Amino acid sequence: MPFRCDLVIRNATVIDGSGAPRFRADVAVEGDRILALGALEGASGREELDAEGQVLAPGFIDAHTHDDRAVLCGPDCLHCKSSQGVTTVVVGNCGISLAPTRLANRPPPPLDLLGDEAWWRFGSFGEYAEALAKNPPAVNSFALCGHMSLRMEAMEGDVYRPATDAEIARMQNRLREALRQGAGGFSTGLYYPPNAQAPTEEVIAVAEVLREEGGLYVTHMRDEGDHVLDSIRETLRIGREAGGEPGPVEVVISHHKCTMSENFGRSRETLALMDALGQDQPVAFDVYPYPAGSTVLMPDKLRQDVKVQITWSVPFPEMAGRDLDDIAREWGMTRRAAAERLLPAGAITFSMDEADVQRIMAHPRSMIGSDGIPHDAKPHPRLWGTFPRVLGRYVREIGLFSLETAIHKMTGRCAQVFGIPDRGVIRPGAFADLVLLDPARVRDRATYAEPTAPSEGILRVWCNGETTYREGAAHTTAGVGRFLGNPRRPQRA
Ligand SMILES: [Zn+2]
Repeated sequence: MPFRCDLVIRNATVIDGSGAPRFRADVAVEGDRILALGALEGASGREELDAEGQVLAPGFIDAHTHDDRAVLCGPDCLHCKSSQGVTTVVVGNCGISLAPTRLANRPPPPLDLLGDEAWWRFGSFGEYAEALAKNPPAVNSFALCGHMSLRMEAMEGDVYRPATDAEIARMQNRLREALRQGAGGFSTGLYYPPNAQAPTEEVIAVAEVLREEGGLYVTHMRDEGDHVLDSIRETLRIGREAGGEPGPVEVVISHHKCTMSENFGRSRETLALMDALGQDQPVAFDVYPYPAGSTVLMPDKLRQDVKVQITWSVPFPEMAGRDLDDIAREWGMTRRAAAERLLPAGAITFSMDEADVQRIMAHPRSMIGSDGIPHDAKPHPRLWGTFPRVLGRYVREIGLFSLETAIHKMTGRCAQVFGIPDRGVIRPGAFADLVLLDPARVRDRATYAEPTAPSEGILRVWCNGETTYREGAAHTTAGVGRFLGNPRRPQRA
């Protein structure tokens, strides 16, 4: 039957996000939705394009970001993500969320990863969602409410200790409000000094709010090194006890890794433990495709055998991109003293084993998440390179898994874990979040030396039916991203 619509993409190799094998089809888009899929001879589009030899996939869902502030900058700030094919970002990770916390002074690390006190001006998730609606970015946002952000308010900044019962009650109230106003879950960063003071019981008590209000528990675990197995057990216990009688809450382990050389190879144990415990409760994890991490610079955690590259420094901005050993030599002081002098600062740490990274990525529970930090002067290349790197290096060059599997880990799997309806999949009725890519050419170009080089082979990206990226075009963004709210919130009469 003939019909007219906004866009027809013809002869595409469709990889639909479910993990199923690719198929050849035309795809019709009307407004913000996919209208039809198949051999659409009768369709005519206001725009038509021939995608012969190209892959059409659902827009990528970046399962782990720190884009809380970047999504507030309107259509032009997330070129780093649109240029990779990303159409949705999950913000508020590692216990760090911009809402619901107002701050008068510069926050302690790692909260300052998102900026100084000027950015901490949202007293509620409602206000944050409103700001996003007023000046939308080019990507959809799924937001988590961060434990450390809640602690800063409930404990009046005195966060290097366990919370009292009264403070826990304040956190519960604020988390409840946040989940009702659109936060999709609760995140913690128990690895970081202020939050490491929080006993498991504190986290369980706050997370119990998820039982009634709906949402996931997402965590940067207490330990990703020697005690990584204990941390996985702690995480799953939190999921079980927070969920209580109705059943465990869904748990997501953030940027799963095994750090430090003595733990190389232990992903065999961590993945086996998750599979064993995962028989009885839902558990997923995200991972980025690099053997180096990045966060705020913490002199206490430095180790001689781990190479460190500075990503930003407030007192010495010119040191961004430099190796800490070189800086120490130049300043004629120890590495530790140089690190202290650079604070507040951020760093890349080369602390993982490539074989672990690959094993973790290849596991069926994995999702791809960049963990990119968008405000760093010389960021980790994962900010600009994560998705094309998986598709180019790990699929085409190394053959770690199929293109279908890789795309599933960037789309359908994420939508399923986060509970995001009608995204992460290509089918009639789903939102028109789409990426067209050249499977022979797609690759990352961002490196540790040149971290902001855009990818190659991502041809065009649509978010909610609007073009947000075109390869080779100087600038194509549209403020069409939506705040996705809390899809797990129970519907009440
Ligand atoms: Zn983290």
